Amino acid sequence: MHSLLILIFAALSGPGIQRAPLLAIRNVAVVDVERGVVRPHMTVVIGDGRIIAVGKSWRSRIPDGAQVIDGTNRFLIPGLWDMHVHALFDEVPEKFFPLFLAYGVTSIRDMGTDRSPAGIAALKSSGPRIHAAGPWVDGPHPVNPGSIAVSNASDARAAVDSLVAQGVDFIKVYSLLPRDAYVAIADEAHRKGIPFAGHVPETVTAWEASEAGQRSIEHLYGVLRACSSDEASMLEEMTHRMADADAATSAVPLLISQSLHAIDTFDAGKAAMLAEVFKRNRTALDPTLIWHRTRARTADDAFLADPRTRQIPDWMGEVWANRMAGRRKSETPADIAARKRLLDRYMMLTRFFAERGVVVLAGTDTGEPYCFPGSSLHEELALLVEAGLSPARALRAATSDAAAFMGERDLGTIAAGKRADVVLLDANPLVDIHNTTKIRTVISRGVITGGR
Ligand SMILES: [Zn+2]
Repeated sequence: MHSLLILIFAALSGPGIQRAPLLAIRNVAVVDVERGVVRPHMTVVIGDGRIIAVGKSWRSRIPDGAQVIDGTNRFLIPGLWDMHVHALFDEVPEKFFPLFLAYGVTSIRDMGTDRSPAGIAALKSSGPRIHAAGPWVDGPHPVNPGSIAVSNASDARAAVDSLVAQGVDFIKVYSLLPRDAYVAIADEAHRKGIPFAGHVPETVTAWEASEAGQRSIEHLYGVLRACSSDEASMLEEMTHRMADADAATSAVPLLISQSLHAIDTFDAGKAAMLAEVFKRNRTALDPTLIWHRTRARTADDAFLADPRTRQIPDWMGEVWANRMAGRRKSETPADIAARKRLLDRYMMLTRFFAERGVVVLAGTDTGEPYCFPGSSLHEELALLVEAGLSPARALRAATSDAAAFMGERDLGTIAAGKRADVVLLDANPLVDIHNTTKIRTVISRGVITGGR
């Protein structure tokens, strides 16, 4: 891994100095993520940041001067997307961006940061491609520092207008938004033509969020409750609790007990109707199973000793340590058992909605405790398969479905004319999803940025 990182630092240190070179990957098996098949013995020619040609090797011409990469017995997948990261805080891009690229994550969707939209724009010319929300938009007592706090509909409209003027890519809605503020955000976002995505606020239902046009639902928040036959009374109970000024902390035990109640009152017919609503509105689900797994492992010492904690800036390490210490102090064995039950249920729901044609995205919440840059995306892919998705479907969640969701038609698949973000693997990911970690070469923006 060390030589790999040096390569990437070298690539990052001189962005834009040289034109992207001509590359030819010869005799490679191209993974068609959309059809879930492998096309063997192909030659892929890359130049000027784009895929120029994809054809059978025996009839492909390799352009003069091209650097040839032998693809024999190797597999080429589109560059991966992590659809839920927090990677733009101070000191973080320097640490995380090389790791994203080393692990084949060539695009990220940043779901909340305190870096200014102008500061984000300055990061967009190198490293992974970035789609970013800028700050969270949350209720009057926000969960995350750096959020925009809104109390009512007029605050909410002003927040959307200001973010649009600053050039964010989308609006991130958060858990504590008052109901009328949320409705106003949806309306204002439609008027301004900007997407909004994020958490389903506690006092809104997943049905309403989908009908309001929320583009993605993160962590499956609100979805479990929406699948319960007892949803209405849980919403009412939560609405009462949220009227409390200190709602952010006082609602957590209620959330867990409600989630367990929602498991016990799961209504498959109602869930199937919800899937139809999501499909009709093209609402995507970003389950972040790796994040849910992390929440179930608070008491696991081996898990907390993960050597990847060296990858994060010191200040973030302190935030993580404090957060985990707080959880270890406050959480009972019953809480941890509940979190494990919830993880199982979220995996079941992921499969349930995927099988019914709802778009599923691969996100990690990297930047949150024990969600790591690059490597955790591969853990998420494995969890999606463990949940019951095929390896091809899991790959689509991080490639073609992610790119289509973001409206990036030039990314997400391997075909002539597409932008050249691709990852060369030593083994077939359609046979075993863990093979996505067997990375030989990463090409980002048409340039080799990593490999062994
Ligand atoms: Zn997040």
